[in-house]
Amino acid sequence: MTGSLDIVGLGPGAEDMVTPEVRAALADATDVVGYLPYVARVAARAGLTLHPSDNRVELDRARHALQMALQGQRVVVVSSGDPGVFAMASAVFEALEDWPAAQALNIRVLPGITAMLAAAAALGAPLGHDFCCINLSDNLKPWDLIERRLRLAAEGDLAMAFYNPRSASRPEGFAKALEVLRASCEENRLISFARAVSTPDQSLLTVPLGQAVPEMADMRTVVILGNSATRSVGKFVYTPRFAR
Ligand code: SAH
Repeated sequence: MTGSLDIVGLGPGAEDMVTPEVRAALADATDVVGYLPYVARVAARAGLTLHPSDNRVELDRARHALQMALQGQRVVVVSSGDPGVFAMASAVFEALEDWPAAQALNIRVLPGITAMLAAAAALGAPLGHDFCCINLSDNLKPWDLIERRLRLAAEGDLAMAFYNPRSASRPEGFAKALEVLRASCEENRLISFARAVSTPDQSLLTVPLGQAVPEMADMRTVVILGNSATRSVGKFVYTPRFAR
């Protein structure tokens, strides 16, 4: 039997935001590998083995998945949102770099709806002009680099989406990020907090940057800061398609 490895995104949470392509890969899998809460979103069935693992062991998880595929299994690695956005796809390719035998495997990356896009759609169109996306976790990069990117993005007047804004282990990071942004952006710049988007717990909050407080975000929140032209219309937030 020829093994295969699909690295898939499960979308932000809602069942109907899982793509048909990802559904088909899961229906055909013999093994599903991933962080426990994501693996829990895959229905158990005969012939399928679930391999949930703890967070922060991405590389071990990737090697385990490749090993099973080399043994002939049809393995699916799951991430939330899109697998290429701060998720497992890069971890698998990292593992592949030191493993020539595994490079011959049939590997596919199947996209999913990333949190930022689901959040933007729920809010209106805050990413309607140029934007960037920054992971605020300093697990894999120094904090100085995060601050520098925030300052440069503000200088470029980009809208920004922030992933992993705030965790119990790094409560001070997001407060520092807000300070850096306040130093470069006007007080009335709109900032939106989109929590648990597309799930029954979804909540959306938009305030001027001057009124934002760190407690408005947690690890289930994606934060979207507008550019200098971002405005609200009715209950929506949008960024015009043109810039001065
Ligand atoms: N690969 C994922 C991102 C993983 S990083 C994706 O493409 O969406 C985890 C971060 O994603 C969380 O801290 C949060 O900032 C964001 N996130 C994931 N799901 C979310 C959801 N349903 N609502 C809001 N933010 C979400």
